[in-house]
Amino acid sequence: MTANDGQTPAFLPFTRPDLDEETIAGVVEILRSGWITTGPWNARFEQALSEFFGGRAVRAFNSGTVTMEIALRMLGVGPGDEVITTPLSWVATANVVLAVGARPVFVDIDPRTRNIDVTRVEAAITARTKVLLPVHLAGLPCDLDALYALAARQGLRVLEDAAQAIGSSWGGRRVGSFGDYASFSFHPNKNITSIEGGCLVLPADADPALAERYRLQGVRRFDIDGMDVDLVGGKANLTDVAARVGWGQLQRLQEFHARRQALAQAYFASFARLELGARGVQLPPRDAAGTNWHMFQVVLPPQLRRADVMQALRQRGIGSGVHYPPIHLFSLYRAMGFAPGAFPHAERVGAAILTLPLFPAMDDADVDRVARELSAVLRESGV
Ligand SMILES: *Cc1c(COP(=O)(O)O)cnc(C)c1O
Repeated sequence: MTANDGQTPAFLPFTRPDLDEETIAGVVEILRSGWITTGPWNARFEQALSEFFGGRAVRAFNSGTVTMEIALRMLGVGPGDEVITTPLSWVATANVVLAVGARPVFVDIDPRTRNIDVTRVEAAITARTKVLLPVHLAGLPCDLDALYALAARQGLRVLEDAAQAIGSSWGGRRVGSFGDYASFSFHPNKNITSIEGGCLVLPADADPALAERYRLQGVRRFDIDGMDVDLVGGKANLTDVAARVGWGQLQRLQEFHARRQALAQAYFASFARLELGARGVQLPPRDAAGTNWHMFQVVLPPQLRRADVMQALRQRGIGSGVHYPPIHLFSLYRAMGFAPGAFPHAERVGAAILTLPLFPAMDDADVDRVARELSAVLRESGV
C-alpha cells in the first residue's frame, strides 16, 4: 500500500481499522431493514463473543468505558471504596472509578512490561479496597496468576481492563475466558472494532439481567402487562449496525492477530539491524508471550523531546501516538492530591513512550520504513 515509485510514499497512520466489503454490505442491509438499533445482531454478536470466551456470559455495550463502569456498579463499588489500578492507562480506567463515587489508588508500573507492578499491589491494599483493576497495556497481559492469587488471599474482586487485549492469552488461556470480570473495547483503534462499543465478560456469580438493566434505564420489565424500573440505569446499548460491524470483525480476529504478530517480529528484526536498542531506545519485551500486539511502543532516550520526534516523523510521512500520559498528573487527579514523583516509573515511561504504526493492512516494507525513518530522526538528534 505504500509502494514507492519514486514519489513520496503515502502517509502511514499509527493505526487504521480494516473493514471488509461483506461487513459494509451487511451494514447497508441492516440500515434498509427497518430495525437499526439493538436487536438480532446484538444478540448474535453477544453469542459469538460468548463462544469466543469459552461459553462465559457476555453482554455488549456502546463503549468500553461504560462497560467498566457497569462492572463496578455490579460489584457494588461506591463512595468510601478504593480500587487499585495503574497510572499508565487511558484515563477511562480511573475515570470510571470516580464515576461510581469511589477512589482510585494507583500502583506504579513495572518499567519492563509497562503494566501495574503486581509485586507492589499488596502494599496498597487497605480495609477500603474492593477491587483490583489491572490493565493489559498494549495487549500484554499482566501476571494474572499472581493477581488472582492475591485477590483470593485478600478477598478482593478483579475487573480486568482488557480494552486492548482481545485475543491475548495468559498461560495458554485466552484473556477473558477465565477469571472474574473482564471488559473489552471495540473503539476503532482497538484490534477489532464495532465503530464504538465494548463487552463485559461476567463471572458465574453475576446476573446478566442486572448488566442489561444497568445498560438500559434499569428497566426490569417492559411488556403488555406493564413496565417496572428498579435501579438507575443508563443508556449504553449497542446498535445492530455497530454489532454487525463487530461480528464481522470478530470473524477476522485470527487473521488480524497473525498479521500483528508478524509485523511485531519485523519491527524487532529492523530495530536489531539498526541497533536502536543499543542507541538507547527501549523496545517492548520481545518475550511478550500471549500479547495480541495491540500496539508496538518504544520508550525514547531521555535526552529527546518526544514532541520533536513525533513532528519529525510526521514530516517523513509516519504517524505516531502517545499511549499514555500518566493519569495522576491530570488536573482532576492533582486536585485530589496526586502529585509528580508519586509513581516515577509511570512518569518516566509516560513522558517518553511512543506508539509506532501497527495495523493488519501494513506489510513488512512499511515496518522497515518506520524503523529507518525513526533511526534517521534519532541520528539527526545525535542518538
Ligand atoms: C480504549 C480503552 C478504554 C475505553 O474504551 P472506549 O471503548 O473508548 O470507551 C479503556 N481502557 C483502556 C486501557 C483503553 O485502551
